[in-house]
Amino acid sequence: MADKPESDTSRHFLRQWIEADHAAGLTGGEVVTRFPPEPNGYIHIGHAKAICVDFGMAELFGGSCHLRLDDTNPAKETDEYAENIKNDIRWLGFRWSGAGDGAEPGFWNASNMFDRMYEIAENLIRAGQAYCCNLTQEEWKEYRGVPERPGRPSPSRDTDPERNLRIFHEMRDGKYADGEWCLRAKIDMSSPNIHFRDPVLYRIRHVPHYHLGDKWCVYPMYDFAHPIEDALEGVTHSMCTLEFEVHRPLYDWVVDRLDEMGMLVVRNGVKIRPRQREFARLNLTYTVMSKRLLLQLVSEGRVSGWDDPRMPTVCGMRRRGFTPGAVREFCDRVGVSKVESTSDPVLLEWCVREDLNRTAHRRMAVLDPVKLVIENFDGVREVETPNNPLDESAGVRRIPFSREIWIDRADFQENPEKKFFRLGPDREVRLRGACIVKCIGYEKDAEGRVSLIRCTWDEGSWGGNAPDGRKVKGTIHWVDAATGVKAEVRLYDRLFLDPDPMKDGPDGFLKYLNPDSLKAVAAYVEPALADARGGERFQFERTGYFVADEKDSRPGVPVFNRTVTLKDSYKPA
Ligand code: ATP
Ligand code: MG
Repeated sequence: MADKPESDTSRHFLRQWIEADHAAGLTGGEVVTRFPPEPNGYIHIGHAKAICVDFGMAELFGGSCHLRLDDTNPAKETDEYAENIKNDIRWLGFRWSGAGDGAEPGFWNASNMFDRMYEIAENLIRAGQAYCCNLTQEEWKEYRGVPERPGRPSPSRDTDPERNLRIFHEMRDGKYADGEWCLRAKIDMSSPNIHFRDPVLYRIRHVPHYHLGDKWCVYPMYDFAHPIEDALEGVTHSMCTLEFEVHRPLYDWVVDRLDEMGMLVVRNGVKIRPRQREFARLNLTYTVMSKRLLLQLVSEGRVSGWDDPRMPTVCGMRRRGFTPGAVREFCDRVGVSKVESTSDPVLLEWCVREDLNRTAHRRMAVLDPVKLVIENFDGVREVETPNNPLDESAGVRRIPFSREIWIDRADFQENPEKKFFRLGPDREVRLRGACIVKCIGYEKDAEGRVSLIRCTWDEGSWGGNAPDGRKVKGTIHWVDAATGVKAEVRLYDRLFLDPDPMKDGPDGFLKYLNPDSLKAVAAYVEPALADARGGERFQFERTGYFVADEKDSRPGVPVFNRTVTLKDSYKPA
C-alpha cells in the first residue's frame, strides 16, 4: 500500500545490520540477497513473509535479490512447483534480478552447482578437512553424543585423503547403497554445538533429480550447499528463520574454507563474504503451515487443491480474493523480530478489507433470496449508482429495477424483533437507490418458510426519499428478478476450528478441521456481475468482499468466493 510513513517495525535489526555492512563497504557497493525455496510444494504466507524480507531489503538498498530454487534434495521436487513459486512471487509484486546462472537474470537452480559443490568437497578431502564415514545410523547417534558431553571420533576420522577420495568417487559412481557411506567435515567432536561435531556434507541418495535425472546419486546436505550457493552467487546477506541460528557457525566454517580456496566472488575489489542472520518465522492461528501438512490436506482431498481458497498458500489467498498489497501490508505489520510469535488471521483480514474498501467496485447480490413483488409498480426504471463512493474515477452504473425483485431472507421478519428496522408486515423499508416500499402481505411455502413478500411502493419516493419527509430507517439491497443473474457463491470460513490445530502434534491436526469451512449458496446478482472476469474483486453491498473465481467462473455463469465479511470489530494497535 502506497506512501505510508516509515514505521518502527520497518527499521528492524536486519535492516540495521545490512545498513552497517553496506556503509562499511563489505557489500562491494551492492546488497545482494536471495530467496531460496525448495520446489517441493507451493509457497504459503510464511514464505510470503520471507519474500517480503529478502526482496524488500534488496529493494530498500537498491540491490538485487536472487530467486534460487534450492533443489538439492531430489525427492518430491517438481517443475510444477518451481513454476508456481515463480508465479506467486511475481503476483506478490517482486522481481528477481542481478546475476543468474542461465538466461534469466537473478534466477538460479542450486542443482546447477552440483559439479562445483562436488569439487569443493574433493578439495576439503585433499586438505584433510573431510572424510568418508560408514557408521550406521545408531552408531552415528551414539558417537555424536549429547551437548553436555563430547562425542567420540568415528574410526574413519583420521584416515588418509587418498582413501577418502577413492571412497567419495565410489559413492558418486553408485557403488554403495543409501546410507552406507557419507562424507563428513572434520571439525570438532567436542564442540557444545552438536552441528559442529563433524557434520555430514554429502549423503547417498539413489533418487533421480527432476532436472538432472540419474546424473547424481550423492547429494549435498543443506548446511554444506547453502553457504556455497550464497558465496558463489555473490550474496552479501543471507536471511533465514531462527531454527538456522545454531547452524550459523557451520555456515561460517564453509565460507572460511571457500575463502581459503579462493572461491569467494570479488565485487568492485571487495571480496564478498556472505553472512547469515535469522528472524522469527511467521505463524498463524487456525491454520497449519508446513508444506508437508498442506500436501496432506491436498492429497487426502480435504481441500480442492493447493489453491483452495481456504489454504494459507499464496495461490489460495489469491483465489480467495486477497490482494498482493494486503498480504505485503500484513507481513509488514507483523514485523521482523527475533522472538517467535503467532499472528491472528483477523489482522490479515483487516488488511484485506482496508485495501478492498478503497479499490473494490460495489455491487448488489442477494445470497439467500426471497421474492418481493411491488404490486403497484409498472414498467422498468433504472437506478444510477456510483461504482465506488470512495473513488469518483470508478464511475457509475445503471441497474434495472422492475416489479419483481429478490431481497435477502434476513431482511424480512414476520414478527420483527426490537431494533430490527428492516421489512416486516405493514412496515416500510428503502430499497437502496430506488424507492420506499411497504409490506402489505406475505406467503409461505409448505415448510412454513416465507416464499413471497407483497409490497406497494410510494410513487413519490423514487431516488429513496419520502415526499412528505417521513423517516424510513432501514435500507436494504436487492436484485431485479427480471434481469438478475444466478450465481454460485462460496462462503469460506476458517479451515480449522482450533487456534492451534498442531497442539496434539502432526498426527492430530485433522480432527480440528472445520466441517463447515465451505458453504455454497445459489444467489442472484445484478446484471453487471454476469461477466465478471476471474480474479475481479467486488464489495457486495452489506454482505462482504467477493472475487470471481479464477478457475470456475464463466461469462454468464459467474462463481464468486467470499474473501472476507464486511466488518469485524478488530482494529490493529
Ligand atoms: P515448510 O517448513 O513450510 O515446508 P520450508 O522452510 O521447508 O517450509 P523452504 O522452501 O525451504 O520451506 O523455505 C524457503 C524460505 O522460506 C526459507 O528461507 C525459510 O526460512 C522461509 N520460510 C519458510 N517458512 C517460513 C515462515 N513460516 N515464516 C518465515 N519464513 C519462512
Ligand atoms: Mg526447507
